[in-house]
Amino acid sequence: MVSPAAPQLTLRAELLARLAEPRVFDVAIIGGGATGLGVALDAAARGFSVVLVESHDFAKGTSSRSTKLVHGGVRYLAQGNISLVREALHERSTLLRNAPHLAQPLPFVMPSYAWWQTPFYGLGLKAYDLLAGRAGLGPTEFLSRSRTQACLPNLQPRGLQGGVKYWDGQFDDARLALALARTAASRGALLVNYCAATGLLHEAGKLVGLRCEDRESGQGYTLRAACVINATGVWVDELRQQDGEVLGRPVRPLVAPSQGVHIAVDRAFMPAEHALLVPHTADGRVLFAVPWLGKVILGTTDTPRADLAREPRPFSQEIEFILGESARYLYRAPTRADVKSVWVGLRPLVKPRAEEGEHTQGLSREHTVLVSRSGLVTVTGGKWTTYRAMAEDVLERCFKAGLLVRAAAGATTDLKLTGGAGSPDQVRPAISAAPGIHLYGDEAPSVQALPGAQRWLTEGLSEAMVRFAARCEYARTTEDVLARRSRLLFLDASLAAGLAEEVGRILAQETGGDPQTPAFRDLAQEYLHLPDQAA
Ligand SMILES: Cc1cc2nc3c(=O)[nH]c(=O)nc-3n(C[C@H](O)[C@H](O)[C@H](O)COP(=O)(O)OP(=O)(O)OC[C@H]3O[C@@H](n4cnc5c(N)ncnc54)[C@H](O)[C@@H]3O)c2cc1C
Repeated sequence: MVSPAAPQLTLRAELLARLAEPRVFDVAIIGGGATGLGVALDAAARGFSVVLVESHDFAKGTSSRSTKLVHGGVRYLAQGNISLVREALHERSTLLRNAPHLAQPLPFVMPSYAWWQTPFYGLGLKAYDLLAGRAGLGPTEFLSRSRTQACLPNLQPRGLQGGVKYWDGQFDDARLALALARTAASRGALLVNYCAATGLLHEAGKLVGLRCEDRESGQGYTLRAACVINATGVWVDELRQQDGEVLGRPVRPLVAPSQGVHIAVDRAFMPAEHALLVPHTADGRVLFAVPWLGKVILGTTDTPRADLAREPRPFSQEIEFILGESARYLYRAPTRADVKSVWVGLRPLVKPRAEEGEHTQGLSREHTVLVSRSGLVTVTGGKWTTYRAMAEDVLERCFKAGLLVRAAAGATTDLKLTGGAGSPDQVRPAISAAPGIHLYGDEAPSVQALPGAQRWLTEGLSEAMVRFAARCEYARTTEDVLARRSRLLFLDASLAAGLAEEVGRILAQETGGDPQTPAFRDLAQEYLHLPDQAA
């Protein structure tokens, strides 16, 4: 039995006091999503001094709004992007190994409604298995009609011929972000949420640091660093622009944001342990229906979107697409009235050229690392699954550009993330079950030891979990707890709104601050609101 290490407390006053110390960090990172947190962990694990500032909450941006798949990307295989798929398959198994409490294998079924689909998709998926090699999670299987129905009980039976079953992975994206933050902190990194980078600091044309502001107090800080990393997702061009202005060089925008919508519905619409993949919808897209934390998530879309809203909202055509395609494949199909939550994320797709009117479906899913003349390192694109490889790539670029001196080799391949080091029974839960204590892995006993461990606010969320979020997981607001420590906002926005008052009350006891509960209730209404149907 592994005895749990005492969890680190994340007292904000201490974090801010460290931010104010006059020192030069090796690495300063702007942005606390998958990309920035991955870089923070990689750099800290190599022994560099690291600071990371996040303007909102960790994973508040795109990194809490994914389809939650740890995947090689079957559709990139169809596009012939073998190297991308191979790297992602390798990273998939690394993540499942290092965060087994947050990521697990998941079987997928592609149903066939035409004679050619089973051999066509089946052979493609056999190639996927071959590419995975020893990192494979299970063999692709050809399914009869009855086995396909057994895997997906509510599947539309009319015209069903059979199916193909294959394996990929699934994870809890926001909790993985927190695990990265906390693992980096355990290696000495200083990470502060609700602290926005407000400007870059140049001296003689070289970037030497940044200015940032604690968004709770308005206090400003100046941070000096040998290397400044811009990991702000779809927002990277704002900082690149500032950097370019100082250098007197116009900067061509790098990112073409693309919006992706998901909706959550009750598990009754897909009472299965398998996910459904529709490889080719009526308009040539991909649709997933994935069991996740006791609900089913349906999505997604790929809609170019130039405005960079923090809370983008869906277009009515996107809702109609998801519900309409779901109705083609689910016998009892969800309607607008069945939607428990709708959320939207912005993909930071990288433009090959700044061409107007380009379809985002054709843009690169690979990541890009750029080093500006002043030394600003910008990283964007890629996907959650490959965050670790992206971080290694960023560090390599910093060494090549002479911003950092190579000290130690990358050390994250076998680094267990916080919560993931316990015995297999502690860390091998089913993410597809209801949310709950198992997501804490080997830290579960530490959560259970807090006041209110037996006081359940709802299934899967206890008073102790709220206290743990405040003490050890950087939570400041009711939204932080209900959207990203627990995932209730994404699963059932109405239930989350109903819990807001009590969660805010417990949080205020812990932090002594304002948990901004009314703002959360308004947000939850947004997650319930569907745009009117197009005429
Ligand atoms: C709909 C959708 C589905 C997806 N599904 C999957 C999937 O199933 N599997 C997968 O592997 N990938 C998936 N992805 C891709 C993956 O989610 C993204 O590649 C990844 O989350 C991007 O992380 P990021 O850190 O670059 O960006 P973000 O998560 O957006 O992080 C950037 C951060 O920078 C912060 N920031 C911005 N400006 C400042 C500033 N001035 N100061 C401080 N902080 C700042 C923001 O607040 C934000 O938190 C999906 C993406 C979308 C949109």
